[in-house]
Amino acid sequence: MIYSALLTPVESLTGIGPQIAKRLARAGIRYVGDLLLHLPKHYLDDRVITPVAALAEGEATRVAGRVVRRDGHGMGRKMQVNITLEDDHGQRIYLHFFHAGFMMRDARLAEGQRITARGKVERWNGYWQMAHPDWQPAAAFVPGWLPVYGSVAGLGGMRLRNLMARALEMVPTSLASPLDRLRPLPLARAFLDVHRGDGSEERRHQARERLCEEELLCYLTLLQQRRAQAATPGYRCVELAGCQQVEQSLPFVLTPSQQQAVAVIREDLASGSRMHRLLQGDVGSGKTVVAALAAAQVMGSGYQVAVMAPTEALAQQLQRTLGQLLEPMVAEVALLTGSSGVRARRKVTSALASGALPLVVGTHALLSDDVRFARLGLAVVDEQHRFGVRQRWGLTDKGERVHLLAMSATPIPRSLALALYGDMELTVMRGMPAGRKPVETRLLSPAAMPKLLAGVQRLVAAGARVYWIVPLIDDEELSVDARVVYLRENLPGIAIAGLHGQMKPKEKQEALARFAGGDVSLLVSTTVVEVGVDVPEAQLIVIERADQYGLAQLHQLRGRVGRSDAQSYCMLIPGEGITEGGWARLTRLTESHDGMELAEFDLKHRGSGDALGSRQSGDPGFRLLDLAADSALIRHWHTQLPELDISAEMVRFWRPLAESTD
Ligand code: ADP
Ligand code: MG
Repeated sequence: MIYSALLTPVESLTGIGPQIAKRLARAGIRYVGDLLLHLPKHYLDDRVITPVAALAEGEATRVAGRVVRRDGHGMGRKMQVNITLEDDHGQRIYLHFFHAGFMMRDARLAEGQRITARGKVERWNGYWQMAHPDWQPAAAFVPGWLPVYGSVAGLGGMRLRNLMARALEMVPTSLASPLDRLRPLPLARAFLDVHRGDGSEERRHQARERLCEEELLCYLTLLQQRRAQAATPGYRCVELAGCQQVEQSLPFVLTPSQQQAVAVIREDLASGSRMHRLLQGDVGSGKTVVAALAAAQVMGSGYQVAVMAPTEALAQQLQRTLGQLLEPMVAEVALLTGSSGVRARRKVTSALASGALPLVVGTHALLSDDVRFARLGLAVVDEQHRFGVRQRWGLTDKGERVHLLAMSATPIPRSLALALYGDMELTVMRGMPAGRKPVETRLLSPAAMPKLLAGVQRLVAAGARVYWIVPLIDDEELSVDARVVYLRENLPGIAIAGLHGQMKPKEKQEALARFAGGDVSLLVSTTVVEVGVDVPEAQLIVIERADQYGLAQLHQLRGRVGRSDAQSYCMLIPGEGITEGGWARLTRLTESHDGMELAEFDLKHRGSGDALGSRQSGDPGFRLLDLAADSALIRHWHTQLPELDISAEMVRFWRPLAESTD
């Protein structure tokens, strides 16, 4: 089975010691297969050898020839080695290597040997030269396409190329995936084609698609299994007195779409069949109150309710909000997360097991085996796209007839949602609570920075808070920290903090709490960090290199502001290399505030055949699949799902859809 090979720890690759393994793990790469999912960004044409006479300054090219001279300057390991290469036409180029004493002893570089070298060509004093080219014996060179990797965990392109070659050796083409009997291209071969880049563009495209299919079919099969399990009876919850009390004590009236959602769910819960409903509604559309009313109905009918959120911060926020909304019914909402102390945890679990506690809010911690319920009636999963299929359903396994209400703010066009969440029925809430002002969105040029900073000064002076989103580069610590330094210099007097994924959970929480509490007015963060807490004072979000995100994600980010009746702003700063399509997308964002409309626009304007660079993998917990670019593939397999034998290892490998990590 190919999956046992893919699940080999990366440490087993030569060249990966404990240090690098640790760094890779932080980037989510633990297994050989994880590394192999780090696909090339693009490929360089490496099919031709350029004669020295035809070299152009500044270009990266490959040359070949005979070593006519090798000499070293300096001593020992610091020695600079110069190699003079003469091509078949008698023209010369000089290759320089620094700190390369060992090369003086390499027999493959002895005078008379034929080698090839690839690097950037420079002209100096009338001579052609290359510094530190990528070289190999001429006989070992295979013309083809050179994969170019984005660096990861501080490992650069060349290093990754070597590691990938070793990783590929660990996955012999004789190892099959369960899907191989259905597809002409075996999975192992697809990994090879994608990383070696041999053959045509068409072939590399097919290989990539094959990898996506593997992930997709694993996912869809899991869904189907779940759907079959869902078609069972559920507790009949018909007592509405508590529910009505809660509704009457709301400080606002429900919007029409909230009313519709409440009505559908009310019927589901009373029907006697198990509910498995996905409630989709834009950020800020007011899903929490719908969940609260469902909880009230279930608790009123004598059953317990568990509410799960993907992060600790969100769980805490839900604990507060639900505590307020459900005040007429429950005295206290319990919280259970990974950082609950042993004693607190025991107190909660025993009260849940005895049935004394009607309502608990928590993170994945709720899924662990020691959490048992006397009579769980409803599981609510907030931000459900952040959980995998198994997790999504995990809570419902803690009772016999548990209803499921999953909620998500990721707008996905209906046809896709049906395929991706086919294990649930769909309710979409459109529209926002009245009185909300749309977030004023502007597209800025980097030259507008001074003006923007002045605007930040003004807003903060008036009491507003600001999110500042920086792009995720290799080392996110760097990108966040560098921005913090820059902004502190340019915004004297403003309290600024950074937030990045490599901080400890506790530090992250602290930074968020200081921002929410107002000790910090400006928070610099990458998008990997959940900024999903509700900070009503946040009135401005600045998004750098905005063109590198999908519209759905940008819209989500924008939803961090505009949470009060004050006017809020979203400033988009595109990267230098922004394409025409990128402009069009960002412009659309400045015009539209409807998440679903934006998702549909994205779907129409990106699509299969898209440049690799504009793909956004990992959308709702996928490792490779991109909802927009792969939508045709998703729809296709949704309607023609074959009977598949998916192994536990296969599910473990595509883990984020089975287990989210936090
Ligand atoms: P989301 O759908 O993103 O989870 P929330 O449930 O957090 O949204 O609601 C966002 C804000 O809107 C909350 O402050 C909530 O109190 C408020 N809200 C919800 N429903 C209404 C309504 N019908 N009228 C006015 N405000 C509402
Ligand atoms: Mg919410």
